[in-house]
Amino acid sequence: MGVSVVASEQLPDAQGRFGPYGGRFVPETLMHPLMELEAEYFRAQHDPEFQRELSYYLREFVGRPTPLYFAERLTRELGGAKIFLKREDLLHTGAHKINNAMGQILLAKRMGKTRIIAETGAGQHGVATATVAAMFGLKCVIYMGAVDCERQALNVYRMKMLGAEVVPVHAGQKTLKEAVNEAMRDWVTNVRSTHYILGTAYGAHPYPVMVRNFQRIIGDEARAQILEQEKRLPDLLIACVGGGSNAIGLFYPFLNDATVKMIGVEAGGEGILPEKHAARFHGGSLGVLQGTRSYILQDEHGQIQSTHSVSAGLDYAAVGPEHAWLHDQKRVEYSYATDDAALAAFQKLARLEGIIPALESSHAVAEAIVRVPKMGRDQLVIVNLSGRGDKDVAQVAARIKL
Ligand SMILES: *Cc1c(COP(=O)(O)O)cnc(C)c1O
Repeated sequence: MGVSVVASEQLPDAQGRFGPYGGRFVPETLMHPLMELEAEYFRAQHDPEFQRELSYYLREFVGRPTPLYFAERLTRELGGAKIFLKREDLLHTGAHKINNAMGQILLAKRMGKTRIIAETGAGQHGVATATVAAMFGLKCVIYMGAVDCERQALNVYRMKMLGAEVVPVHAGQKTLKEAVNEAMRDWVTNVRSTHYILGTAYGAHPYPVMVRNFQRIIGDEARAQILEQEKRLPDLLIACVGGGSNAIGLFYPFLNDATVKMIGVEAGGEGILPEKHAARFHGGSLGVLQGTRSYILQDEHGQIQSTHSVSAGLDYAAVGPEHAWLHDQKRVEYSYATDDAALAAFQKLARLEGIIPALESSHAVAEAIVRVPKMGRDQLVIVNLSGRGDKDVAQVAARIKL
């Protein structure tokens, strides 16, 4: 498979680069705060007291470990490999985002910060951040695109309920990209008091490596659970890819296991036509956006293209730099699922398993529906159920009449 997986284990390098990807492309004023964050993060990572505190809150507040659940009826229906669901949807606040939010807020407290800011797309990261900020009594401001505020109104209300201020961003396409811009602007201005809890494995170093390490608990648990339940490693891992945090969290602990294949599923939207999707590996090219170098959907002049997906959490023009690296190394395959395929998977999982998945996670389920029937009955697949679909019910109801 041509991968030096060992090398990948050692990435990023000291400059935060994954091969040609990653790095730190920010205004001068953010250089110092990022270096301070990097130094404090690496100290915390090797501090047993920090790790003990993080484990305590992940267990007692967040609800870890999550089950690795054998999806018996879906397996029977598809007639191929055995399907296991990693149930991140069962976490407090309903998605994997809180693994990272909890890690970062403990870091913020350690650094003496009193104010938390974050960007959010689907609203799940905003809710996770507002939750941990409430829990530790820190002031919290969430930036969210005005369009996303509308399509995820329930999450906006949840954030406000938790005491956060939600700032709708009216610039540009009014979605996640613009929310990140506003959060970065705020951080530059208020950096002394403020920590920016970025929500995915994206942005300037050290965010991609830090978020990956806070999310790798998904894969660490899944690895131990499948070995316990099936006495062997899985053949295939499937996860949806927005910025890439739930996927890298699942994949990372398996990267050195050459027999384990991995598929990251991007948003195919209405199909691979300009501005109708958010599948960065199907039309993207090398560029720099919001602090890092990666695959980006841009036009021939380097203007960032509009994107579309039924799921706000996957609707972003760039992808985390480690995924760009793993793509080029051919260690992970990147496919896409369309809006229609994701909606069909949403309904199928609800009807067959009694689990309503997030629209984001439904993209991973859609890929399983395509792949699993072509696999042997003795093979094992783990699908990351990154979140639950409660937040999406109103939006789905507008498209599907029951
Ligand atoms: C935010 C979100 C995603 C996409 O983000 P990643 O960083 O790519 O994981 C996927 N699923 C759910 C449920 C989300 O809330």
